[in-house]
Amino acid sequence: MSEGSIAARLAQVVERVARAAERGGRKPDAVTLIAVSKTHPADAVRAAFAAGARDFGENYVQELRSKLAELTSAGSPSASEARWHFIGRLQKNKAKDVVGRVTLVHAVDDVELAAVLARRAAAAGVSQDFLLEVNQGGEASKGGVAPDGVARLLDAIAALPDARDVRCLGLMSIPPPAQAAEDNRVHFRRLATLARTHGLALLSMGMSDDFEVAIEEGATHVRVGTSIFGDRPAKV
Ligand SMILES: *Cc1c(COP(=O)(O)O)cnc(C)c1O
Repeated sequence: MSEGSIAARLAQVVERVARAAERGGRKPDAVTLIAVSKTHPADAVRAAFAAGARDFGENYVQELRSKLAELTSAGSPSASEARWHFIGRLQKNKAKDVVGRVTLVHAVDDVELAAVLARRAAAAGVSQDFLLEVNQGGEASKGGVAPDGVARLLDAIAALPDARDVRCLGLMSIPPPAQAAEDNRVHFRRLATLARTHGLALLSMGMSDDFEVAIEEGATHVRVGTSIFGDRPAKV
């Protein structure tokens, strides 16, 4: 996709974010738009950054590392000035590659992963923020803790030896596949209630097909790929 069309699509999404925030009685800057650049080349990141995007989402550790390396060696300001979000499933043995590199790890769903993040953060002398992924549809194919398991998991994480080197700031979820964005409203609303119950401020919910509904229901972070960068190449 050309630089110009990424800029045009980004501008449209930014506008839709602002209008959805307005409908939800919220300020547009209460919502962080994460441009999900997975499978798209570093050039696409550069184009989106030049057009104003500041938060980027990646799902794969190796891809994140190589993209960052490419942007750094090209001297792109996106390498140092952008905030990176790790939104995929993170394997424990890869945790060291994201700690301190990403502003937020979105999908923590067990205490062992939190323990590794905390240990790596302590060793690196940084504090690592993360979200808990909640599996709202009980789907075996997806990660995430069941809604009624959130309290226990938060307690277990708080009891970790290096607990003060990590902070759980909120919840993240990918609702089950839906026919229409409106079908996901109930999930977004429940996630917002669950976060409130636990005094958690951040809500990472909403993707290309449903980010406006998510914002109306309180999303603080929306993860939007296709609407900005176009279709992802089919996986081989
Ligand atoms: C790929 C991905 C997205 C972006 O999806 P689009 O439908 O392309 O906007 C958002 N969140 C997660 C967790 C993803 O893996």
